Amino acid sequence: MHNWQADFPFHQHHPQLVYLDSAATCQQPQVVLDAMQDYVIHQHANAHRGAHGRARAATQAYEDARTRVAAFIGADASNLAFTASTTAALNQLTTAAIDWQAGDEIVISASEHHANILPWQRLAERLALTLRVIPVSSGTGQLIEPEQYLGPRTRVLAITMASNVTGVVNDLASLCKAARAKGIRTFIDAAQAAAHVPINVAELGCDALAFSAHKVYGPTGIAALYMRPELWQTMPPQNLGGGIVETVTFTSSELISSIQKFEAGTPNVSAAVGFSAALDWLQQTQQAGAGRYLRNLQQKLIAALQQRPQLELLPSDPNGTPIVSFYSQAFHCHDLALLLAEQDIAVRAGHHCAQPLLQHWQIPGVVRLSLGLTVTEQQLTQTLVALDKAMALLA
Ligand code: PLP
Repeated sequence: MHNWQADFPFHQHHPQLVYLDSAATCQQPQVVLDAMQDYVIHQHANAHRGAHGRARAATQAYEDARTRVAAFIGADASNLAFTASTTAALNQLTTAAIDWQAGDEIVISASEHHANILPWQRLAERLALTLRVIPVSSGTGQLIEPEQYLGPRTRVLAITMASNVTGVVNDLASLCKAARAKGIRTFIDAAQAAAHVPINVAELGCDALAFSAHKVYGPTGIAALYMRPELWQTMPPQNLGGGIVETVTFTSSELISSIQKFEAGTPNVSAAVGFSAALDWLQQTQQAGAGRYLRNLQQKLIAALQQRPQLELLPSDPNGTPIVSFYSQAFHCHDLALLLAEQDIAVRAGHHCAQPLLQHWQIPGVVRLSLGLTVTEQQLTQTLVALDKAMALLA
C-alpha cells in the first residue's frame, strides 16, 4: 500500500501530530502546492480580463481547472461555477426562488450543516415559506421516510449527501428521482461526501450540487457549484460586478449568458489550479485503494472505542465517510479535545455546525475523529492511548 502520509509536507514538518480533523479541512499534498506555485510563477494574471500572454495563460488555467473539476462529478464545464465555498454556493442557490409563493415548502433534513439551514431559514422568513425537516434516526443516522416530506407545495429538497457529524451517506439517487417526478428541485450539499463517495450528477439526477476544495485535499477559498442549465439560466447571480457583464450604463446592465455570470470579481485562479491538482491526486489514491484503507482504519477505531463503556458512539455507515463520533455523559467533549490536543492529537469537539441534529437527538457535544490520508494505523493506537490518559485525568 502506498504511504500517503509521505505526500504531505505538513506531516514532514509536524511528524508528531496526529491529524484527525480532515472532515473540517484536509491537509494538502505537495503536488497541490507545486501546481499552485507553478501557476503563480508562470501564469499569474487576472483571468477573463486581458489579451496579453499572462492574462491568456491565467484564463486558460482557470478554464482548464473548471473542466477538470466538472469531470470529477460527471458534469460539463459549462454547468459548473466556482464559488468561494460550499457555504457561498448554498447561499447562491436561494436565488432559485424566483416564482415561489407564500406557503411553498423547502425540505431539508435534520442532519444538515448550518450552511444548508441558515440560507433557507432566511429565505423562508422573507417569502413566508415553510421549512420542513426530514427526521434522522439516532440509531442508524439514516433519513426516516424522506419521501413523505415531498408534498404538492414543496419547491426544493436541499439535502446533504453525507453527515459531517456521523459520516452516514444518504441514498440520494432514489430521493432525487422521487422529487423530480413531483417537479421538486434537488440541491445537494456534497461537502463531506466528495472525497469519499463517487459522484455523478447525471446518475444522481440532481439540479445542483456543491462541494469545497479544502475537503478534497485542495486549498481553502474555492468550491464547485454544479447546476443544471434549466436552473442556472433562470437564476440571478447573488454577487454583481466586474467580469460578468456584456454592457453597463448608469441606468441598466446586461449580464453575460454563461455560467461565469455567478463569478463576479477577480476569480481565485491559483486556488482553482490547486483544486484541480487535488482531484487528480485524490483519484489516484482512490484507484490505489484509499477508500478501503480509510474504511479499515475507521472500523478498527470503532471496534476499539466500543470497548470503552464511558463513550457512546454515534451511528456510522460502513459505506459512509471515515468519521467516528462519540459523546460521554462522564466527560465534557471540550475537555477531552483539549487533553488530546495537549498530546498532539487534533480532533474536533462540539456541535460541528449541526446544532439542530444534536438537539434532535438530545445529545451533548460530540468528539469527532475524522480520518484522512495523513493518518496511519500506528497513529490510531497513539490516539487511543492518549484518549485513555485524558479520561483517567478527568475521572
Ligand atoms: N456542508 C457540510 C456537510 C460541511 O461539512 C461543511 C463544512 O464543514 C459545509 C457544508 C460548509 O463548507 P465550507 O465551510 O467549505 O463552506
